[in-house]
Amino acid sequence: MWFSITHRQYFLCVKKQKSALRRQYILPFLSCYNICYVVPQLVGKMPSLRPLFWKKYPLAALNADEWEALCDGCGQCCLIKLEDDETDEVAYTKVACQLLDCSTGYCSDYVHRKNFVPDCIQLTLQKITEIAYWLPTSCAYRRLYEGKNLPSWHYLNTGSRKSVIQAKKSVAGRCISEKEINDDDIDEYIVRWVR
Ligand code: SF4
Repeated sequence: MWFSITHRQYFLCVKKQKSALRRQYILPFLSCYNICYVVPQLVGKMPSLRPLFWKKYPLAALNADEWEALCDGCGQCCLIKLEDDETDEVAYTKVACQLLDCSTGYCSDYVHRKNFVPDCIQLTLQKITEIAYWLPTSCAYRRLYEGKNLPSWHYLNTGSRKSVIQAKKSVAGRCISEKEINDDDIDEYIVRWVR
């Protein structure tokens, strides 16, 4: 009995009635998007990004730029997720937020996203304590929150943004916009490539 899911979180109670779907938007990932393209070149050169900050300091000790720089831009958290209301199991679908560009895996209008997705929220340390359970296990924020290292393919380790695609962690080319599906069919889009 899938009951919810998503990043923008759909809290959808399939158990009761698919049509009685309630949407709650949670877009933490997108809050990290704005620095994605520049960080590889800036690490070590920009004073606000301390060398190896992701290894040396806990999340609570990161400055704003370092926090943003953690995002690998995978876009997985922009996919709608479903949660079983009995087992609490979370399953990802390949259905993406209306603003996600499924060809690139990035938000198509980050600056104005609130105009289209008012409930989009910013990922903060406090918020992680509430939502870590549904963030992808590869998510940099979840991993550091759980005391783990960044994955070997993370761009902060490789120096290249392409590594997230090479590691098959990006949703680019693998998702479908929520605008293209019928909400009632959401559970037909569950995928296993997001864990
Ligand atoms: S899942 Fe984590 S690392 Fe990936 S885009 Fe979302 S916030 Fe960034």
